[in-house]
Amino acid sequence: MIQRFVYETIDSTNGEAFRLADNKGANLAPFLVLTQKQTAGRGRAGRKWESEDDGLYFSIYLRPSVTIDKAAMLTLVMAVAVAKALQRYIAIQEQTCKQATDGCESSLQILQTLGIKWPNDLVLNGKKIVGILTELRTDDRGYGVVIGVGVNTNQKTFPEELQDKATSLKREMGIPILGEVLLKYIEEIFLQEYTTFEKEGNLVFLKETYETLLINKDKVVRVLDPKGEYQGVAKGIDEVGQLLVETQDKEVQKVYAGEVSVRGLYGYVD
Ligand code: ATP
Repeated sequence: MIQRFVYETIDSTNGEAFRLADNKGANLAPFLVLTQKQTAGRGRAGRKWESEDDGLYFSIYLRPSVTIDKAAMLTLVMAVAVAKALQRYIAIQEQTCKQATDGCESSLQILQTLGIKWPNDLVLNGKKIVGILTELRTDDRGYGVVIGVGVNTNQKTFPEELQDKATSLKREMGIPILGEVLLKYIEEIFLQEYTTFEKEGNLVFLKETYETLLINKDKVVRVLDPKGEYQGVAKGIDEVGQLLVETQDKEVQKVYAGEVSVRGLYGYVD
């Protein structure tokens, strides 16, 4: 396990990770910041991440050996790690509660709907359950990366505007989630994949698994590019994690995450 800094409440685990690196020195890396609640949780492009009690909120601070242009791929590495950790969590739950209740069977069925909405969201039953935000900062010794993860574990409700978009694992599966156990699995799986990523410097090793989980695969997506919105069929990802979108004229566009969002034809996913 890597070193942990644990808080009851903090503004943002990503923000605190950068502050810790500044104050205590970047060679503290890798370390983890964990909190029960964020008062100013962030999404991409300055969007807000709801982080009330009953969720799992943490960030990992790293000093990757790969060049800075490759660091954005870590978002996809983390997305796969969280998905695999959830699958492991539910599989183990199922073994222990098989005889006790019939809730396990239904939670396993729901797990079949778990997927990644490119590039950084995990979706269950068509709704968002995990958000991931990767941020970078350069300094005189190179750069540091913070990967922030918010998992909707046990929330009962969400604000009105998120009713159609967000859900929690407990709401969908009917079983309470032990955040500490889930975090242990995520940390273990992520650090393993991160070691491979640092060696290889690309996502070839993860591409197949990522594409199996990619809910947009072979579906029509709307690419919300600030330079102009367009539609196409999502084919998968390339070796650096760009989404491959085949447009009507059979041209394949490579979508780089940056400021671009992808939606289903009618809504957030479909
Ligand atoms: P994309 O990632 O495709 O650009 P996004 O709108 O989902 O789109 P993110 O930055 O990933 O953007 O996440 C922030 C958004 O997620 C918010 O604007 C809000 O719509 C939604 N959101 C905020 N808090 C939560 C939460 N706890 N669970 C699920 N969704 C949330």
